[in-house]
Amino acid sequence: MGLRIYYGGTFDPVHLGHLAIARAARDQLQVAVRLLPAADPPHRAAPGADAAQRLAMLALAVGDEPGLLLDRHELDRAERQPGVPSYTVDTLRELRAELGPRQPIAWLVGADSLLALPSWHEWGALFELAHFIVADRPGSPLAGTLDPVLAKALEGRWASHERALFTAPAGRLLRLQAPLREESATAVRAQIQADGPWQALLPAPVADYILGHRLYGATPS
Ligand code: ATP
Repeated sequence: MGLRIYYGGTFDPVHLGHLAIARAARDQLQVAVRLLPAADPPHRAAPGADAAQRLAMLALAVGDEPGLLLDRHELDRAERQPGVPSYTVDTLRELRAELGPRQPIAWLVGADSLLALPSWHEWGALFELAHFIVADRPGSPLAGTLDPVLAKALEGRWASHERALFTAPAGRLLRLQAPLREESATAVRAQIQADGPWQALLPAPVADYILGHRLYGATPS
């Protein structure tokens, strides 16, 4: 049974760092990567762009590039269950129910997300549901001293070969082989606000969309 790779995020907006790590995962594991945008948080306005706009930007970023797919699980669930917060653990349970207990599933994250894992809802259940593929990220050292609770949860899970993700349904960790990427959505939004050089951080069609829709305070010059 093949491996399924999901890449969850807010993508507010999707930037070249996101695309680089999605491509690196696809190429390292030779498996399609499914980019899975988070739904808007319930009971408050979307912070930047709304879910439909974030999805539209993702579609522009991915285009018809082979091995990069969009996944609507969290957006569809939010439509079915308005007002219910969307947690990764719920998404993984939904995928598990659809794909069966033997299907290998991997969740792609940046190192900052892995370091923050103990703050995720029901985080203890995550490794029973999926593998994690981890991309290094500036400012989030994986080699340093980890929170002891996290260190214990990660113990014995690191895989030295991609094969480990294909031979078990969940529970292993793989380090992505990819150069560090500086981009962050926070920096993109801050640069737009400050009238800084933000367009080079994004795929050109996404920058055009932001200008066209005047997102994040962008104004066409
Ligand atoms: P923000 O700056 O608003 O927190 P972000 O740039 O981290 O946004 P998200 O949509 O929150 O973007 O990220 C989705 C996933 O991609 C997370 O797991 C995050 O760690 C990872 N990620 C984002 N940018 C990078 C990057 N430059 N290098 C490695 N991982 C990244």
